[in-house]
Amino acid sequence: MPAFQAGARVWEAPEIYQFSYGREKADSYLIIRSGRAVLVDAASPELAERIRASGLALDLILLTHEHCDHLWGLNAVRAAFPAARTICARACSEAMGDPARNQARRYHIYMALRYGSACQEKGEADGKWDPELRCQPADQVFETRTALSWQGLALNLIPAPGHSPGSGGSDSRSV
Ligand SMILES: [Zn+2]
Repeated sequence: MPAFQAGARVWEAPEIYQFSYGREKADSYLIIRSGRAVLVDAASPELAERIRASGLALDLILLTHEHCDHLWGLNAVRAAFPAARTICARACSEAMGDPARNQARRYHIYMALRYGSACQEKGEADGKWDPELRCQPADQVFETRTALSWQGLALNLIPAPGHSPGSGGSDSRSV
């Protein structure tokens, strides 16, 4: 054991893991600190089992925007972790229940044109090809810069429309 570990630990850095899904590489991130977690985007239903099997308590689901490739796993994760709060920009929340505005219908066609329908038949996308994907609104929305604290970290939420009307970001830092 390194000698420094005899000291009292007064600050634990969060760990951040990236997961990429599908041929278009939609990303999700898991921020972990002291056995608790924040999920940034829910790009696959597989995340629900991954988080559960890891024994993590999921506190928050932060959505960067309303596009379906970042929402494919949201219903599964919410079902597995009903206490987790979903937070995103107001425009994201308003669009994610609409398969036209969350791009599910368009994405379905795009993927079939680009990769062919064979990849759907193989099920490689674990059900993510649903052109009628609908998600319930977020539990909390923001329209202006919003301070959010989690496990001693300031997860400041910032609307950043551009990629989509409901895009948002964070300038997280320790406090
Ligand atoms: Zn997008």
